[in-house]
Amino acid sequence: MTMTVRTRIAPSPTGDPHVGTAYVALFNMAFARSHGGQFVLRIEDTDRLRSTPASEEKILNALRWLGLDWDEGPDIGGSAGPYRQSERSEIYRQHADRLLADGHAFRCFCSAQRLGELRAAQMQAKSPLGYDGHCCDIEPGDSQSWADADQSYVVRMRVPREGQCQFDDMLRGTIAIDWTQIDMQVLLKADGMPTYHLANVVDDHLMGISHVIRGEEWISSAPKHILLYQYFGWDLPVFCHLPLLRNVDKSKLSKRKNPTSILFYQRMGFLPEAMLNYLARMGWSMPDEREKFSLTEMLEAFDITRVSLGGPVFDLEKLRWLNGMWIREDLSDQQLADRLQDWALNRERLLEFLPFAKQRMETFSDLAPLGHYLLVGMLPIGREALLTTVDSEEQLEEILQYALWRLETLDNWQRESIFAALKSLADSMELKLKVFLAPLFIALTGTHASISVMDSMQMLGADISRARLRHALEIVGSIGKKKLKKMEKSYAKLI
Ligand code: GLU
Repeated sequence: MTMTVRTRIAPSPTGDPHVGTAYVALFNMAFARSHGGQFVLRIEDTDRLRSTPASEEKILNALRWLGLDWDEGPDIGGSAGPYRQSERSEIYRQHADRLLADGHAFRCFCSAQRLGELRAAQMQAKSPLGYDGHCCDIEPGDSQSWADADQSYVVRMRVPREGQCQFDDMLRGTIAIDWTQIDMQVLLKADGMPTYHLANVVDDHLMGISHVIRGEEWISSAPKHILLYQYFGWDLPVFCHLPLLRNVDKSKLSKRKNPTSILFYQRMGFLPEAMLNYLARMGWSMPDEREKFSLTEMLEAFDITRVSLGGPVFDLEKLRWLNGMWIREDLSDQQLADRLQDWALNRERLLEFLPFAKQRMETFSDLAPLGHYLLVGMLPIGREALLTTVDSEEQLEEILQYALWRLETLDNWQRESIFAALKSLADSMELKLKVFLAPLFIALTGTHASISVMDSMQMLGADISRARLRHALEIVGSIGKKKLKKMEKSYAKLI
């Protein structure tokens, strides 16, 4: 009997849709389709504080925009649902109980204070961090009665203290990791919610996932997962860890150096076909090595063993070049006109902008100058224009850099939260809001007179806004390494 291939993508809805998610989704979909199998989308929203329905919706929309589609998921259902982990808590609790009953897991009653002290002591002694097994040997009877008496606890998995975990990876061969490097992972938190590790393994098994294809950052979690499969007595899936996407300098792809949100690329006017083509080229190649190919062509030729492990570089310049080819070679003028209309002049976008523009318009032709900054990528602003807004170059650098750092950590990109974040930063810098916002205005909109900075930022989206601040900092161009270190220190004191 041949096994049914089932793969999955399991994003956590805690922010904007990431290009890395699309990349892993594409390879999962290609693998499933080329084996006549199914591709499942599951939402891993066990982190209740950071997960939002808005982020889930953005992720699903972005993946669909790219042309990816799944056979089962929270939006379309399926026989292995529900596909949102927040709707499956009972299942995880039962599985944690089973591990407790079989002695594969134990209740840990350690206080946050004890764990904090343990960590501090380990750090000082420069010894490996991790749980020390303090609650490992509590008698099951005691453990039960303390739990019954409502003492707070978490459930941790038992982990061998010697030997190695060995497992096979489709691309990497046998991987061996010492058990001493593996922490006695918390499986169920004090509030009864599962951690990623428990929920992920239970779901992959119950959803019949045959191949776990994911980013290489999860290799170090694989031993915990494998042990859980063994504890439950389940067959292991096949593991395949894809190479991480990298910045041009080879560091891990990060929004500090490269826009990582799919929404940025949408907003900049990249074609979904070209994006998908470029993501497919990340570590993978067509048998004839050609650069430009469609999803259908990729699916016909797909063979996962052609993934090479040298860190694939996500290079914006290369993507632009490929996108240009798609524009020229694959779209007729008619099609291009439709695409442009969809992209920039669609009703939704106009309706977002018109309430602001209307106040300043006397004729229709006033629209373009008012809204041009919403349609372009980086703005051709000059150093002088930025400097006229401030007292000194130093002040300019501080405002731009601190605002950028503050906005890089802002999860909720709504006018109110952007305002609150910037206002509190201006206050702690002891600057009037108007003074603080003046250079941001130029950096983001290119002019002195435009729609308010907050509204503009909300319309531009997080990634374009941040990219423009970064661009303005490059134009000022005077922050060296040493200065940056100093600024980091002063910034840390501010917040
Ligand atoms: N929820 C995890 C993530 O956000 C899924 C990792 C996995 O594929 O196991 O990437």
